[in-house]
Amino acid sequence: MKKIILANPRGFCAGVDRAITIVEKALEKYGAPVYVRHEVVHNKYVVDGLVERGAIFIEDIKDVPAGSILIYSAHGVPLSVRDEAQSKNLTMIFDATCPLVSKVHVEIRNLYRQGYTIIMIGHKGHPEVEGTMGQVTDHIHLIEHEADIDNLELPRDIEKIAVVTQTTLSVDETKSIIEKLKKTFPNLKLPKNEDICYATQNRQDAVKAMAESCDAVIVIGSKNSSNSNRLKELAENLGVKSYLIDFDYEIQPEWLNEVSSVGVTAGASAPEVLVEGVINRLRGLGYSTTESLSVVEEHMTFALPSELRS
Ligand code: SF4
Repeated sequence: MKKIILANPRGFCAGVDRAITIVEKALEKYGAPVYVRHEVVHNKYVVDGLVERGAIFIEDIKDVPAGSILIYSAHGVPLSVRDEAQSKNLTMIFDATCPLVSKVHVEIRNLYRQGYTIIMIGHKGHPEVEGTMGQVTDHIHLIEHEADIDNLELPRDIEKIAVVTQTTLSVDETKSIIEKLKKTFPNLKLPKNEDICYATQNRQDAVKAMAESCDAVIVIGSKNSSNSNRLKELAENLGVKSYLIDFDYEIQPEWLNEVSSVGVTAGASAPEVLVEGVINRLRGLGYSTTESLSVVEEHMTFALPSELRS
């Protein structure tokens, strides 16, 4: 019998939930428009819905008129963006940066103050990486892959050297990069607690467990969503055909030729309503039973800014 296996946990994490709620509450309380620097989370459905309600997404602070309300996205912003926003005559600024990203920002600023050279593992051009690296002005180097370590122009016996990571990387790939870094720089200081966040870890663990019993995996998430891309890659690396889609209508029936078990998961920025759409579509394609595969329960929540709590 053809079946759907649903990964658990999947979809919204606490940081995404908080960021979207900040935009919604700001719209409710202060009225449209509110300006948001960058897509508040990387999901087309979510962003389009907020645009309809009066959010205006901008990349450049110059595009925010004086007297407006501004919100920073969940990915965080460099200090230069905060400084620029502060210098404008804005009514209010809300910070929707995920607290787990802010934790890495604090870590970097502390390391910098103590004279450390910092290596960041992350994806070039991703807004979280730009925000995190932008917490300091220099002595920070970005690497994406193990091979980049050989190109770092730093003395191997450097005493004060530390590593931080983007929160949404592949857990396994990051481990092997850090192993090589430790061999290259014997004095390397590691983060006290992992920078890769609980939601990334849990969603990857669930896909790993699910992939064992699936012939294909569908990941619901947008193409610019880092954690969704990692879920797709992970299933592929385990030898399972994997597809990243925003909406159920993107599913091509030929993807499911000779597929008796199809795994479904969603990146941390994809809402459950999109998962429901995919399940319905798959039912129409003959996948009549649904099983859930759960690796852990999540109970994380993050507080809203005090002005938006009521
Ligand atoms: S994926 Fe992790 S770091 Fe990113 S918003 Fe969610 S909890 Fe925060």
